[in-house]
Amino acid sequence: MDNLHHIVVVGGGAGGLELVTSLGNKLGKKRKARITLVDSGLTHVWKPLLHEVASGSLDANANEINYRAHARKHHYEFQLGRMSGLDRAAKKLTIAPFRDEDGAEVVPERHISYDTLVIAVGSTANDFGTPGAQDNCLFLDSLKQARRFHKLMLNAFLRKNHEALQGTEHTLNITIIGAGATGVELAAELRLASRELPVYGMNHLQASDVSISVIEAADRILPALPARLSAAATRELEHQKVRVLAGQPVSEVRETSIIMKDGTELPSEMTIWAAGIKAPAFLADLEGLEVNRSNQLVVEQTLQTTQDADIFALGDCAACPQPDSDRPVPPRAQAAHQQADTLFKTLCNRLDGGKAVPFVYNDHGSLINFSRYTTVGNLMGNLSGRSMYIEGKVARLFYLSLYRMHQVALHGVLRTGIIWLMDRISRAMHPRLKLH
Ligand SMILES: Cc1cc2nc3c(=O)[nH]c(=O)nc-3n(C[C@H](O)[C@H](O)[C@H](O)COP(=O)(O)OP(=O)(O)OC[C@H]3O[C@@H](n4cnc5c(N)ncnc54)[C@H](O)[C@@H]3O)c2cc1C
Repeated sequence: MDNLHHIVVVGGGAGGLELVTSLGNKLGKKRKARITLVDSGLTHVWKPLLHEVASGSLDANANEINYRAHARKHHYEFQLGRMSGLDRAAKKLTIAPFRDEDGAEVVPERHISYDTLVIAVGSTANDFGTPGAQDNCLFLDSLKQARRFHKLMLNAFLRKNHEALQGTEHTLNITIIGAGATGVELAAELRLASRELPVYGMNHLQASDVSISVIEAADRILPALPARLSAAATRELEHQKVRVLAGQPVSEVRETSIIMKDGTELPSEMTIWAAGIKAPAFLADLEGLEVNRSNQLVVEQTLQTTQDADIFALGDCAACPQPDSDRPVPPRAQAAHQQADTLFKTLCNRLDGGKAVPFVYNDHGSLINFSRYTTVGNLMGNLSGRSMYIEGKVARLFYLSLYRMHQVALHGVLRTGIIWLMDRISRAMHPRLKLH
């Protein structure tokens, strides 16, 4: 076992978990290589579901994958811990001490040796140093944060319901800063929650008592997507009584309000930061590896870091060049999924002395889901390179297929079919919103 080539993947997210699954199935099972996944958490939830967990329209427990159980089934090893450093000369990475929720040390600092290292640690929201953002905003970077958001939201509704009963002022102001896909989809999810919760006992409150705003610094929402999509999304949000404030940079976030660059103060009891991303800060301190201003590891088109051909990076934490473009590959689940596929081929080739495969991002389009109301998006024609606008049920079907593709990569087609059936049964058995 010790003589086997050791591939260590750090980060079991949208890209990393798909990669270790295929490596385990192909190389680990036949004992051609030893595969290890390191993650700071015990379970995986696909990150694009987090805003649904936050609003309560999805029960995370039913969608969680336990790394240990998954590792056993797919022939890789799992190490719980947070990567904190790297010794490239000795080819060892450092895992910080693991502590329980009370701060007591469970496992001390450790080192793991590797022959090939893949870093896939994702990203977190980037508040660009906006005063007050860290202290007064909620973030949706992890399952823990999404669950905390859900609890705070239920309590806020409960409080406002009580105030309505007392006959006092009871408007709940919720503001989302950043109108990229995450911010826009979250706004629609929150509108759904504001309509559903009164049905489940908070009947002194009405959806109109919940004021939801999305703020965007660029002159239109969804600035990275085609203008037509942005216009359709604005119409849909306004139809759902969500206030859209585009071209309005935020200069400060206070406990119960937001100060705009022009000095206007907007009341906001719950403020969510969903603008921009940056990779984890520790990447900037890894000896000798090149990072950009967002802490992303700069990689070649082969996903190899520019300074070390034995270290690869993929997903949100990698700045990967694209041919014919001065922009790196965008930070999306779709990109992480495709990079995991390419890297799988490269790592199999490497064991046989073959070459690394260059990564070419294939943009299949973008879909924005407005909770159970509607979905809009554009699909890219592979041959024509043109985009086709879609909306409604067809768009929703494509949107849902993204998550199913991730599940197929992790569980195979048959088990994904069974999971789909169980989801349908669970929907029929449980309330439409998670109420605790
Ligand atoms: C609310 C929300 C909605 C989104 N919706 C969409 C969408 O609809 N479509 C789309 O394409 N993209 C969407 N995205 C973006 C998408 O989720 C990311 O692009 C994608 O998850 C990136 O995959 P990844 O593998 O790079 O990282 P992640 O999926 O973020 O996984 C990173 C993993 O690394 C682990 N980790 C982090 N630091 C360490 C460390 N130091 N040591 C060990 N482990 C570590 C984490 O625990 C995590 O498991 C959304 C993002 C959010 C937040």
